[in-house]
Amino acid sequence: MDKSNITAPKRIYAKEDVCIGCRLCEIHCIAAHSKYRHDLIKTFKKLPKRPLPRIVVEEDVPLSFGLQCRHCDEPECVKACITGAMQKDPKTGLVINDTERCIGCWTCILACPYGVIRRDYTNKKVASKCDFCLESGLEPACVKNCPNEALYIKNTVKSHDL
Ligand code: SF4
Ligand code: SF4
Repeated sequence: MDKSNITAPKRIYAKEDVCIGCRLCEIHCIAAHSKYRHDLIKTFKKLPKRPLPRIVVEEDVPLSFGLQCRHCDEPECVKACITGAMQKDPKTGLVINDTERCIGCWTCILACPYGVIRRDYTNKKVASKCDFCLESGLEPACVKNCPNEALYIKNTVKSHDL
């Protein structure tokens, strides 16, 4: 897929008043990043090792909401990264971890104020975070598959930031 014209001056927000804590956002995020891409049955029945979800549902009954990377304007994880693996793409606004360069030192995890970067030991030891479903054409699986529209996308980046 040609991603050269894709921009994502957007963030995903949660509506905790309608989130029911079903965790379908986590399930679909896992499937979206598995080798079976979006096929839930194959992802959960055929893969002994599955990708981590890049969204985490926080729950303190009756409150719940999905939380993932904010793709911050001045990302602390990028500043903290010792190898340059964590980068903010000036064109898309996305903070992306280059897993080839990531050595799993977890400095970014310590630096992230939202606690949304996770340790991934699935294959190579790397930091795992939301990539706004870049490989799926920036159509976030979590937003698309939430049954209650408890996640929504908002354009937050000013045009001069792009
Ligand atoms: S899928 Fe929607 S309702 Fe379910 S836990 Fe995720 S955000 Fe909440
Ligand atoms: S945007 Fe994609 S990668 Fe990010 S949390 Fe949602 S499903 Fe996961």
